[in-house]
Amino acid sequence: MAAAKFEVPKFREYPIIPNLQPDIMDSDGPFVAKSEHQTPLGFPGELVENWQEKAIAKMGDLLNKYRGLRLYMDICVKCGSCTDKCHYLQGTADPKNMPVARQDLMRQVYRRYFTVAGKFFPWLVGAKDLTEDVLHDWYNYYHQCSQCRRCSVFCPYGIDTAEISMAAREIMDSVGKGQKYCNEIIGKVFKVGNNLGLPGPALADTLESLEEDIETDTGVRVRLPLDVEGADILLVTPSADFFAEPHINGLIGYAKVFHEAGVSWTISSYASEGANFGMFIGSYENMRKISLRIREAAIRLKVKRIVIGECGHAWRVAYSFLNTLAGPFDFLDPNYPVPQHICEFTYDLIQQDKLTFDKSKNDHRVLTFHDSCNVARGAGMGGIPGGQFMIPREVIKAVCNHYYDMPPETIHDQTFCCGGGGGLLTDDLMEIRVKGALPRMEALKLVEEDYGVTHLAAICAICKSQFTKVLPYYGFKMDKVVSVHQLVSDAIILTRPGAPKLDEDE
Ligand code: SF4
Ligand code: SF4
Repeated sequence: MAAAKFEVPKFREYPIIPNLQPDIMDSDGPFVAKSEHQTPLGFPGELVENWQEKAIAKMGDLLNKYRGLRLYMDICVKCGSCTDKCHYLQGTADPKNMPVARQDLMRQVYRRYFTVAGKFFPWLVGAKDLTEDVLHDWYNYYHQCSQCRRCSVFCPYGIDTAEISMAAREIMDSVGKGQKYCNEIIGKVFKVGNNLGLPGPALADTLESLEEDIETDTGVRVRLPLDVEGADILLVTPSADFFAEPHINGLIGYAKVFHEAGVSWTISSYASEGANFGMFIGSYENMRKISLRIREAAIRLKVKRIVIGECGHAWRVAYSFLNTLAGPFDFLDPNYPVPQHICEFTYDLIQQDKLTFDKSKNDHRVLTFHDSCNVARGAGMGGIPGGQFMIPREVIKAVCNHYYDMPPETIHDQTFCCGGGGGLLTDDLMEIRVKGALPRMEALKLVEEDYGVTHLAAICAICKSQFTKVLPYYGFKMDKVVSVHQLVSDAIILTRPGAPKLDEDE
């Protein structure tokens, strides 16, 4: 088991609500962004002098712009239905990690400045001034929310704490108190094209060496093309797919599927990132700027289709917002969805019997599947109700003989977050990440005991990275997590001839 500087939660016999421990997770929050991380995103470099005034003005802007936010501030009836639904409450026992309490951090300020009762009788309606203490709590507890939306599934009014958390982060950014991790990453996308800051030549080298690896393994040269003008498909995938385990095995899987489909495809060095951290910080402008890179790459490379790789929030942004942010995409082939998920792409081919698999290649694995929050509760797939749950599972079942779901109250739209989403995947938030993973780890333990499950498949880069890191804290091996297209890659039989070597191309 990995060593921790904090107490790792114990598996519970039943998922009971923990005894509350007020302020147990009180801290200064994640590292604060410095000026060099803030200014490229259009935010002040440090906390501005008149920050209270500016923050309230920004809040007023957001309340006018996002009518849902005002509604969420007004309609909570304190029914308590959401209180125990957050994985961070379950893992930390800090009452401020109850979704309703997290919302109240903003609601008390809203009432003070934007309601008549709160202006004149603040003590009667739980209204509070926006003080330094409140800002401290905002920064800390809005970075203990992975914006997973699980609580909203159980709220009779559909109050979306994720939206509130995004608004809070946007307000804090606007007065100069941003989070280093998210803002630094967004800056790298603007500068280099991806979260990692991986420049084009390094990316080209990586893709070439993957081609060599595949050829060594299979005897077939499968291309992983970069910046090929006129290719049919632009693949936009999280940059973790270019280097990290198990992500990279998924990328190899996509390449093999494209090869077998006989389609031409390319990655773009300009838009070499599927992730869009603009969503985590609630910044429409930054989310739009990142999305526009995909549009620009698609136009420059003259592709007909856009396919998104395995990344949860990238898929949410692409599926739910891409057209608004960067559309219209009327220059693409209307016969295909814009965009299309790689699982949809592979599933279509499976339906048409165009892929050949040897499922026994995965017989050393007994699988379960983790529904990633942003796919499960923020997107759809395949134009089928519940397609986002069915399609990845059907892909897994097409390539594996042994598959078992985790308990129903922990999957599909009730899935538990991996604990590292929403901009929390940083080492300075390790304690909350490990504690927040508890419910998912418990569900995994159950299927391990009941069915001998050996591997947890996922279609989200953040989930994969988070699991790799937190699994050992709960006594599991870190390589228990696999990419769905890694399973495809291991089972697929390459029937088409290999591509010519690069120098034979010309
Ligand atoms: S959105 Fe997710 S992380 Fe945030 S309060 Fe709700 S359940 Fe917790
Ligand atoms: S479930 Fe909804 S209405 Fe009930 S306390 Fe939670 S946020 Fe408020």
